[in-house]
Amino acid sequence: MQNAETKIKRIVIVGGGTAGWLAANHLAADASEDVSITLVESPDIPTIGVGEGTVPVIVDSLKKFGIRESDMFRLCDATFKNGIHFVGWNKPVNGQPHCYFHPFDDPNVNGVNLLPYWLHQLPEARARFDQSVSIQAHIALENKAPKLITNAEYERMINYAFHLDAGKFSALLSEHAIKNRQVNHVLDEVESVKLALDGSISGLQLKQGGLLEGDLFIDCSGFQSLLLGQALNTPFIDKSDVLFANHAVVTQVPYENEHEVPPYTISTAQQAGWIWDIGLQTRKGVGHVYSDQFTSHEQAHRDLSAYLGKPEDTVESRLIKMQVGYRAQAWVKNCIGIGLSQGFVEPLEATGLLVFDLAARMLSKRLPGERQEIPAIAQQFNQHMTHVWQSIVDFIKLHYCISNRDDSEFWRMNRLPETIPESLQHKLALWRSDIPNEYDFVSSLDVFRLENHLYVLYGMNYPSQCNYPSPQKLSQQEAMLKLVAQQQQKAGAMLETHSDLVAKAARYGFQRI
Ligand code: FAD
Repeated sequence: MQNAETKIKRIVIVGGGTAGWLAANHLAADASEDVSITLVESPDIPTIGVGEGTVPVIVDSLKKFGIRESDMFRLCDATFKNGIHFVGWNKPVNGQPHCYFHPFDDPNVNGVNLLPYWLHQLPEARARFDQSVSIQAHIALENKAPKLITNAEYERMINYAFHLDAGKFSALLSEHAIKNRQVNHVLDEVESVKLALDGSISGLQLKQGGLLEGDLFIDCSGFQSLLLGQALNTPFIDKSDVLFANHAVVTQVPYENEHEVPPYTISTAQQAGWIWDIGLQTRKGVGHVYSDQFTSHEQAHRDLSAYLGKPEDTVESRLIKMQVGYRAQAWVKNCIGIGLSQGFVEPLEATGLLVFDLAARMLSKRLPGERQEIPAIAQQFNQHMTHVWQSIVDFIKLHYCISNRDDSEFWRMNRLPETIPESLQHKLALWRSDIPNEYDFVSSLDVFRLENHLYVLYGMNYPSQCNYPSPQKLSQQEAMLKLVAQQQQKAGAMLETHSDLVAKAARYGFQRI
């Protein structure tokens, strides 16, 4: 029998950024009907307003919430994302920038691992790894969309994600949660946090609305981490000694001429960081992520302007300071941090929404019904989140530490062993003597798995030894590579251009499922 005193009936979310509204939608979809969900956000403290690149799991969440794919194109300025094109992350090759693509499709075709054959070829004779094994990388660089207008909503020919306007996306999530899921929306500012004798949160003192009480509190208040960090003093594990980028200058660029919108994020390496370039329907979002240990804010702005090909005094940019790392516990007492309040590492692989969405999904799947259930659930949640963050830090660092760039202190420092986590050093040692395999990624919480590592390692020409299989297996892989090339041609011929499909999706929508 459940005790009314200890039953969890009121969930309060603080913060109406993407993290807050993702959490609200997940909880509203999974919580029982007698649990009330209230989201309070300040009308005066703006959301961070960035976060335009996603990964394919966002599709699963949107489907779960019942949000139409067509609305992403009608209401969120969305475009398709097939992956990330990395430019200049190694030294130039024959005077041209080094490039590789990290798509979402699997490099193992029909279950056959094509890497041994690819490594077996002479480097000067072979095509890029992504171009050899991935249909998606090929069609993306041809500016093709990953599906047809005749495909139903979320039906994919090739796995994809979206680029989106963060503010418009939050508004869509918010409208959906309020209208369809009865989430109470309070526009007010939290002035102070009331703690009970046992150190848990009992309520929030609002500027206008008095005391807002609750049983479970979700902190989505952004970098300031109002509840988890400030009120509950949860230590922050700083990772800036591993991942140096701690600032971004960001800008939005309207399109001036007829243009093709690339169906992928472009990530161009710089002397002390990198620049993201994300094409939406009506504008681009561009940001220079860098470390102020290695360059000045002024120089970062100059580099951003140079990238855009514009005089620096004509570019309006906004400076964002980033806290790099995560809270030692994501769940303390009756408070769970989701979003920037819990942790953040630079946005190189669009890990923000990925982790926030995962955290909200995990919470809503195992929502405590009573207070007594919290300690066991919180312990597991914290172990999981720590694993997620550690594996993400390793994966992001991988992009830097295997680079052969030596043209600045930033790149040289990134290779120093003392800046590379031991866990990653261990994996790199394994992958020097043999190619990675699925047993290197044993946890379902390794959000970046074998395929992601293969694209980065061999995009960057990591020198793995490979015990080449029998000639028979090599010729099977060779035949499979030829098949990939045929499929690339076929898909390229069948799919329409990205800009055409996005325009149709925004105008007519996809067929409902
Ligand atoms: P915020 O957007 O900061 O929202 C905080 C909310 O808390 C606001 O609603 C505010 O009003 C409220 N609040 C604060 N204090 C109070 C108070 N006292 N009372 C009431 N309400 C309060 N992620 C990706 O997935 N892909 C990307 O490409 C990507 N790029 C990024 C680039 C940069 C430079 C940065 C910094 C982040 C990026 N991210 C990216 C992460 C992205 O910012 C987040 O995904 C997203 O914006 C969510 O932030 P949030 O909701 O945690 O916080």
